[in-house]
Amino acid sequence: MAVFVYAENINGVYKKAAFEAVSYAKAIADQAGDTVTAVSVNPTDSSDLLYKYGASNVINIKDEGLKNFSAKAYAQAVSEVADGSIIVFPHTTDASSVAPMLAVMNGYSLITNVLEAPESLSPFQVKRRAFSGKGYMHAKAKGEKVIVTVSQNAFGVKENAVSGSEEVKNLSVANEDTKVISHEQSSGKLDLKEAEIVVSAGRGLKGPENWGMIEDLAGVLGAATACSKPVSDIGWRPHTEHVGQTGKAIAPNLYIAVGISGAIQHLAGVNSSKTIVVINSDPEAPFFKSADYGVVGDSFQIIPALTEKIKALKG
Ligand SMILES: Cc1cc2nc3c(=O)[nH]c(=O)nc-3n(C[C@H](O)[C@H](O)[C@H](O)COP(=O)(O)OP(=O)(O)OC[C@H]3O[C@@H](n4cnc5c(N)ncnc54)[C@H](O)[C@@H]3O)c2cc1C
Repeated sequence: MAVFVYAENINGVYKKAAFEAVSYAKAIADQAGDTVTAVSVNPTDSSDLLYKYGASNVINIKDEGLKNFSAKAYAQAVSEVADGSIIVFPHTTDASSVAPMLAVMNGYSLITNVLEAPESLSPFQVKRRAFSGKGYMHAKAKGEKVIVTVSQNAFGVKENAVSGSEEVKNLSVANEDTKVISHEQSSGKLDLKEAEIVVSAGRGLKGPENWGMIEDLAGVLGAATACSKPVSDIGWRPHTEHVGQTGKAIAPNLYIAVGISGAIQHLAGVNSSKTIVVINSDPEAPFFKSADYGVVGDSFQIIPALTEKIKALKG
């Protein structure tokens, strides 16, 4: 039972989600008594980073034509080298659009957003996120060949070093469907979907001029910043920060929500976070029902004080 994993990189640098996917693939390979082969497109990072999480073989696809991302072309490229009975993808924006293309192309069953190592390999059965994270289900694959996407921050990154070997595969896949017209760079220093800590704010902040305190708090915590939908709709913050049902779905270890009411559409994108802290002046705000810790109060007093306290603790 050959196990493959798609190790996603961004501008050649492996994402944390790639290490999590490799860790997950290694858990399957251990169950199956087999090894893991990682596949990546134009990486510049060393393959040592993938051996560390359990990939015994790394296939580096070199293809100038794949500089611009296209789900179809990437699925074609992965298809040329990955013929395992199980292929693992991270559930990132790009990888989760390659996975279904590849599944249709080569007749795989597809199970997305898996949370844990499989309950059985034959038939393949696994627990997955359902209903925008409000529930979960146990999905069973019909066929022998399965593609899974791993929900970010669910399984975790697990070191499991093996000695590995690398192979370079030169391809020239047609990539004519995608032309990059413009590129919006996320304003934060950290990738929101990869961040361990996220500080997020909503309409309770009253205006864009008040985001300095959110950025200061994020700065001392080493966190990424996010926002609710109306905030990005009005143009207070860039759309790249919008989280929720119609924005990015994130699952950091710590999500701090400031001046956000906690509408169901917002929760859909953040309720898989490990710990949720809600700061809101209204004790009846619905978000408190989903919070692990809640602070009732004015964010204009609490946030600067919290930032100072953390700075003092760190100092
Ligand atoms: C189809 C659809 C899809 C949607 N998708 C999304 C989505 O993806 N993401 C999303 O976020 N929303 C989404 N929404 C919108 C969602 O329903 C809510 O309207 C939105 O999340 C509310 O944003 P908010 O919490 O920032 O603002 P509000 O609901 O206005 O809440 C502001 C909060 O700030 C608090 N507050 C005010 N002053 C202070 C203060 N000084 N200190 C502390 N707290 C204070 C208030 O008590 C209040 O709870 C969607 C809606 C629809 C219909």
